[in-house]
Amino acid sequence: MKKSWFSSGLFLRMILMKKSISYYDYIIIGASKAGLTAATVLREIQKDAAILIINGEDRLPYKRTHLTKFLARGFDTDDFALEKRAWFQEQCIDLLDSPAQSIDSKEKSLRCADDKKYFWGTLLLATGAVPKELSIPGHQWLSHLRTARDTESIRAKLLQCKDVLVLGQGVEGVELAEQCSRLGLTVTLIGRDDRLMKRWLDESQSARLLALLEQKGVRCIFGQSPCEIGKEGEGYTMKCDNQQFHGDMILSSTGICGNPVLAEDLGIYAQTGVPTDLYCQTEIPGIYAAGDVVQTPPGWPTGLWHWAEYLGTVAAMNMGGQKQMMENRPTRLKSEPFGSFYYSMSYQEVQSSDKSDVFMDNDRGYVRIFSREGRSISALMTGLGKGISKILDAGVKIGKAPGKIFATIEEAMKDGE
Ligand SMILES: Cc1cc2nc3c(=O)[nH]c(=O)nc-3n(C[C@H](O)[C@H](O)[C@H](O)COP(=O)(O)OP(=O)(O)OC[C@H]3O[C@@H](n4cnc5c(N)ncnc54)[C@H](O)[C@@H]3O)c2cc1C
Repeated sequence: MKKSWFSSGLFLRMILMKKSISYYDYIIIGASKAGLTAATVLREIQKDAAILIINGEDRLPYKRTHLTKFLARGFDTDDFALEKRAWFQEQCIDLLDSPAQSIDSKEKSLRCADDKKYFWGTLLLATGAVPKELSIPGHQWLSHLRTARDTESIRAKLLQCKDVLVLGQGVEGVELAEQCSRLGLTVTLIGRDDRLMKRWLDESQSARLLALLEQKGVRCIFGQSPCEIGKEGEGYTMKCDNQQFHGDMILSSTGICGNPVLAEDLGIYAQTGVPTDLYCQTEIPGIYAAGDVVQTPPGWPTGLWHWAEYLGTVAAMNMGGQKQMMENRPTRLKSEPFGSFYYSMSYQEVQSSDKSDVFMDNDRGYVRIFSREGRSISALMTGLGKGISKILDAGVKIGKAPGKIFATIEEAMKDGE
């Protein structure tokens, strides 16, 4: 039911504005994929609502996934901006460049770095993730890359280095190693697993990736966890289980957890983030959470751009009164180290009893589909183009039979894909 202007909060807002108190129907803390998506959806479903989005960074909201892809090349401040500043004005969404510092859930207000108080009708925490700290001596010497500002300062330091250690062999670690290598550095990529990007790739793809990295001069060390970091002159030493490594800098990418700041003060932070119900509502009525800050149910996606977008949508629908329940959804990853293309969809869903069909495994590329009772549930691909990944995406999403997906791929390849 559409609210009248009197009941919509606009009336209250006008009175408060007269008294110099800022009231918004919706305040969103965190201006990245989850927060911005939520603001966009709220504007679509409530044309006259007052919406404030609080930006904690030093630039317009941007595509965070580009940071590890453009570290070597470098970028200008707003190169990856998701929207221009004018867009916020057009949408009547206020963007405040002043981080939130404290929240009073009883009064339904928050205070920002500008020392002003803002009142809300409904609040969304979209404050993202932070790197997991390793609890080892010397962990403060590790460099983490989470924001554009981090990327700029790490790049400036890397330009003064000769050799670098990269810790963590997941997607981010591999991309960081690739970028450091592009900068002409000697790179050692170290991790505790027995192969690269284990969460996303099968053995065959990991082996292809390893061959590629080694061919480009990146040294990969497996089965090693750091136990101590030390400073040695201008560089650092990293002691692992049974080996020791030296580098001018150590980049660490060993996982993330939901941002505890603000949530801990509210008493709604659990082990790895803010738990919500399936409607993105936290245990405090009127406070929702979306994106990487959320502690998702075990086995559900986490730390992914498209998942942050999905949760931002679900949260906004519920905040705006249109009930929508969160569902587990397929995970998807695309990574392009050294110009090659690695694609993985729902690989975490695969069980040992699932059927596997390898449709291509040669110099040109690799395609494998997993299926259960004749329906495709997961796909892996290397070496072929993005058009082929779209065919796999579409096929797995509707559970098409593996043979039918491959027939479509063959047709597309004949047409030059
Ligand atoms: C280097 C890198 C590469 C990645 N590559 C990929 C990839 O290839 N594919 C993929 O799917 N995912 C990738 N990810 C993950 C993806 O970027 C995240 O899942 C996504 O950005 C999460 O969005 P979010 O809105 O929940 O949080 P975030 O993007 O983390 O944003 C949270 C925002 O909240 C702000 N904030 C925090 N506290 C406050 C406060 N008190 N006041 C105001 N603002 C605050 C932060 O400053 C930040 O801007 C990558 C992440 C990184 C760091």
